[in-house]
Amino acid sequence: MTCGTVIGSKWEKYRKLVDGGKTPKDALDEVGLKRYCCRNFMLTHVDIIDEVAKYKIVSKK
Ligand SMILES: [Zn+2]
Repeated sequence: MTCGTVIGSKWEKYRKLVDGGKTPKDALDEVGLKRYCCRNFMLTHVDIIDEVAKYKIVSKK
C-alpha cells in the first residue's frame, strides 16, 4: 500500500496543518510527502475521518 515511508510521525503534523487552514495538497508538500503512494494514503485517511465525523454529527440529532 505504501513505499515504506514512515507515515505516523507525518500524520499528526499533516492534520495540524489542515486544521490550521491548509489545503491537503499544501499540507502534504509541507510535511515532505512527495510520492503519490504516500499522498494517496493520507488523502484516503482524511476522507475516512471526515466521513466518520459527519456520521457522528448526524447520529447525535
Ligand atoms: Zn509512499
